[in-house]
Amino acid sequence: MNKNFGTLLNCMDGRTQLPAINWIRNNFNVEYVDIISEPGIDKLIYLKNKDFLKSIENKLFISLKKHNSDIIFIAGHYDCAANDANKSEHIKHIKASVKILKKLHDDVKIIGLWIDENFEVEVCCEDSTL
Ligand SMILES: [Zn+2]
Repeated sequence: MNKNFGTLLNCMDGRTQLPAINWIRNNFNVEYVDIISEPGIDKLIYLKNKDFLKSIENKLFISLKKHNSDIIFIAGHYDCAANDANKSEHIKHIKASVKILKKLHDDVKIIGLWIDENFEVEVCCEDSTL
C-alpha cells in the first residue's frame, strides 16, 4: 500500500485545496498531502518573518520527520484575498519561497505551484532550476 506523504504550503482559501491536493496526487508518488495553511502564504514566506518561519518549521518537522515526506510544494493563487498581487508578483513570491525553503531543507525537493483563474495547477518553478 502506498503511504507516501507530501507537504503542501498553501493559502487558506477553500477554492485552492482540492485542486492542489488532486494535482499533487495525480503527478507525484504521493498518497497523503499534509497541509500547512496560512492566508497568502507565498507572501508570508517571501517576507521572511522570523516568527512565521519558526511556526511553520514546527509543522514541517512533523510532516518531514514523522511522516517522512520528501517533497514540499509551496503554492500561490489567483484572486488571493491575503496577497492582492498580480500573477508576476505572485511568481516572484513563490520563487523566493522555494529558495528560502530550500536553504532550510536542502535534502528535500521543493516545487512552486501557481493556481490560476480556473483553479488549475501549474508548476511555477522547482528548486533544481532556480
Ligand atoms: Zn489566498
